[in-house]
Amino acid sequence: MSVSDEVKQRVDIVEFISRYTPLKRTGSTYKGLCPFHSERTPSFIVFPHSGTWRCFGACGIGGDIFSFVMRKENLDFRETLQMLAREVGVNLQEESQDASASQRTQIYEVNELAAKYYFEQLQHHPAAQKARDYLQRRGIDQATCERFGLGFALDSWSSLRDYLLEKGFNLDLLQQAGLIKRNDERNSTFDAFRARLMIPIRDRQSRTIGFGGRVLDDSQPKYLNTSETPLFHKSRVIYGLDLAQAAIREAKKVVIVEGYMDVIAAHQHGFANVVACMGTALTTEQLQQLQRFTNDFVLALDADAAGQQATIRGLNQARQALGRIRKPTLTAAGGVRLEERLGANLFIAAMPEGLDPDDVVRQNPALWQKLINQALPFVDFYFDIVAAQYDVTTAQGKGTAVTELTPLIAELQDEVEQKHYIDRLSRWVHVDERTLWDRVQAVSKTGQIAVEQQHRRRPMVRFGSPRSANEPGEARPQPDPVGARPAPRTALPSPTFDYEDHLVANLLREPDLVVWLAGAADKLEILPLQVADLQNVENQEIFRALKQFVSSDEQWDIELFQEALTPHLHGRLAQLLAYGAQMPVKADNELREDIVRTLLRIRLQRLSAESANLKFLEADAFNQGDVEGSKQWGDVHNRHLRDFDHLQKSQKRISQLLFRRRLPEQGMHIKY
Ligand SMILES: [Zn+2]
Repeated sequence: MSVSDEVKQRVDIVEFISRYTPLKRTGSTYKGLCPFHSERTPSFIVFPHSGTWRCFGACGIGGDIFSFVMRKENLDFRETLQMLAREVGVNLQEESQDASASQRTQIYEVNELAAKYYFEQLQHHPAAQKARDYLQRRGIDQATCERFGLGFALDSWSSLRDYLLEKGFNLDLLQQAGLIKRNDERNSTFDAFRARLMIPIRDRQSRTIGFGGRVLDDSQPKYLNTSETPLFHKSRVIYGLDLAQAAIREAKKVVIVEGYMDVIAAHQHGFANVVACMGTALTTEQLQQLQRFTNDFVLALDADAAGQQATIRGLNQARQALGRIRKPTLTAAGGVRLEERLGANLFIAAMPEGLDPDDVVRQNPALWQKLINQALPFVDFYFDIVAAQYDVTTAQGKGTAVTELTPLIAELQDEVEQKHYIDRLSRWVHVDERTLWDRVQAVSKTGQIAVEQQHRRRPMVRFGSPRSANEPGEARPQPDPVGARPAPRTALPSPTFDYEDHLVANLLREPDLVVWLAGAADKLEILPLQVADLQNVENQEIFRALKQFVSSDEQWDIELFQEALTPHLHGRLAQLLAYGAQMPVKADNELREDIVRTLLRIRLQRLSAESANLKFLEADAFNQGDVEGSKQWGDVHNRHLRDFDHLQKSQKRISQLLFRRRLPEQGMHIKY
């Protein structure tokens, strides 16, 4: 049970609200004059069994104890929680909650200071001469050094540790930040990075979250990264994104390379839309982050990595996962428009034999530009690889080529695109199109489940060349435990999650649907989803923040979103995300329909529950000889019935109004 649930359970809502307005018992409810607007006859009702209240008069609002206090005392959720928790004696554990936030802040701080320390060593320490020589050999100039904050870790077991301790940080924090390691046998600690060129790894807000360290001789490992910390999650990090994001937007294209030095060299030569994904694998999570900036991805692959079919096939699956994403974009007028995204466009730029991106950028910037501009759509690229490998004049070669290529064609979601490649394959291997279509369809059927499961497990895409294969500490990410569980086939909420949880969880899966839902409500002639539609205060708060996030200029990012929420809501957010992750992946329209139907269900459910109460209030007033009051309740009840009726009608018109077929051009509606 969450803290706010516990508070709700302990607060006597009737007693509490009667401090603001006298309440009189009527049946199982209590009524009084609305504390939010002035009235002569009471239209404000408290429902003790559900712990909620509602004004049936001018305000037409309602909620639970939290929304009452927030509105009445003009407090935010956190303040309200603090006040009510004090009132009922619930321990908020403020300290431990704040500790984790302050722990994060401290790790940022200590990383920042460590980066400065390494930077100073590189600039001035005599022992850093070999690092300065190395950078000079690689043509990295001083401005670039400063821009990327490059540094040097001395060949010492304790120099960074001693420096940071002297600055007042404690050993535990240094260890949590991954800057030092502990030797349990000897009960001692030592610097994690020694005798290495240090490359600070920053998040999108340019905060240092970890380091990569490169050796300057032949010792192993060549690259060492910060181990996983509360800030540093290798599967999410995109190196150079803070410096590249503007250029990516401008170029409408991101170039993904494999190494830090590739990124640094590219930026120095004016190619600022270049980033690197950490380690040996490119995750769907990383690709999805990048898709907030652009839909065009160019992978600069070393010639040998490019030849690996597993690399390419994995990329295709990542591409399919990307195709599911849509995002809201801001219009010039400041409104929010939902932009339908096609699948991401994945291009491959293969480097010439024996060269890596860093070499090409330095030796021949014009060639780099040309290779990027002429990058091939990955299916074409794959055709070329297969063509180079098999002799399609032989029956065996034909068979192998078809076997290699049909899974890729099957994975394409666009039929026109599929046709294009089937034509090409048909002409090339001299097999008729019909036969190839059959093959593709057979592959799609058997492949579908596997692809979906793999997507749910966040597939890791090999993006490797021998250069990085020997990187140590590249722990394979564990399969996501949520995704590994069999997905429930039904869309119905589980017993512990009700309709509104279901709705909020779905909106968190696809935040752009907040915008879509507003448009849908308009078409159905119903009110858009409002905070007041939700009863649970934590859902209300999360939805309020979600609405704000979606209409802001900020790109959707679950971590940024979480940071915007008070820590008391993090538990609830995690629950909703876990619940959402368990739901089966749905086609766009299915998910949309689910969302709009859930909204209607929530309202119908509330109206029918209130209807019983209203009937009672009407009869009660009448029995007490209060004819005017009785008539008033009767009117409210009739209004409810009309609303109920309207909602039911809207429910029936959902398919017709929202999901009718459109002509492909101009999105014109077909009139029936
Ligand atoms: Zn009112």
